[in-house]
Amino acid sequence: MTKKVALITGAGQGIGEGIARQLADDGFAVALSGRHLDKVQKVADDINAEGGEAIALKTDVSVRDEVFAGVEEVANKLGQLDVYVNNAGIAHVAQLCNTDQEHIDSLLDINVKGTVYGIQAAAKQFKKQGTPGKIINASSIAGHEGFELLGMYSATKFAIRGLTQAAAKELAADKITVNAYCPGIVLTPMWDQIDEEMGQIHNVPKGESLKQYLAGIALGRGEEPADVANLVSFLASNKADYITGQAIMVDGGIKYV
Ligand code: NAD
Repeated sequence: MTKKVALITGAGQGIGEGIARQLADDGFAVALSGRHLDKVQKVADDINAEGGEAIALKTDVSVRDEVFAGVEEVANKLGQLDVYVNNAGIAHVAQLCNTDQEHIDSLLDINVKGTVYGIQAAAKQFKKQGTPGKIINASSIAGHEGFELLGMYSATKFAIRGLTQAAAKELAADKITVNAYCPGIVLTPMWDQIDEEMGQIHNVPKGESLKQYLAGIALGRGEEPADVANLVSFLASNKADYITGQAIMVDGGIKYV
């Protein structure tokens, strides 16, 4: 039997890397896409060395043509596409009133438009194949509550929940499910950046902002990429065939929705 194929965006580090490794363990052939080919190639090489099947491709998710070309490349090289994980995203820490045009644009371009392009390109490929498909998007606890200093970021993560619901309704007839994962405080390079930028604004040492956020987690520890990858593993599997349009919390107990 041929392997099912999953494409994960922003897979060179952090949550995306964790998801790619988990889906490879689950038996998927995985395509890792990212802005920096060397980074995704390194993770793909690692997965292959451990007995998995992985390829790497260079895609900037904010460029529509690159997203569509990436899906085509994966279908050509690996034979098909079954799961598309819209994971790539950026954060920016600033008071809403001080958020400049450049950051407003890049947050919308990467987090929102990148997710739309991913949904469009994946759905096009699934329909062409005539097979069911699964689209899995990265929302956040910040997609359920607007966080201070993360106003524009929160707006993009709210948007992703809206897109997830609308796409789920529109694509259900084609047996394509669309869901989202909503992590809490995941210990990745993104949170290193958030901690540093919050520290500069509040004039507190490195690590202090993160410590404050970690103190609010019921399960008492920071989240690992593997915690998120476990949920995505389920959402990508046949066990989630009857779930669509949902944005599922995986945050150790921060927000209860
Ligand atoms: P990260 O910054 O560690 O990794 C993000 C990856 O996305 C990087 O490899 C980066 O190069 C890539 N990327 C950024 N812009 C891109 C673009 N235009 N095209 C292609 N790739 C691009 O972040 P992370 O913590 O692993 O977060 C992954 C996703 O999970 C993001 O969407 C983020 O918003 C979301 N999330 C993260 C947390 C957290 O606490 N870290 C919480 C909730 C949601």
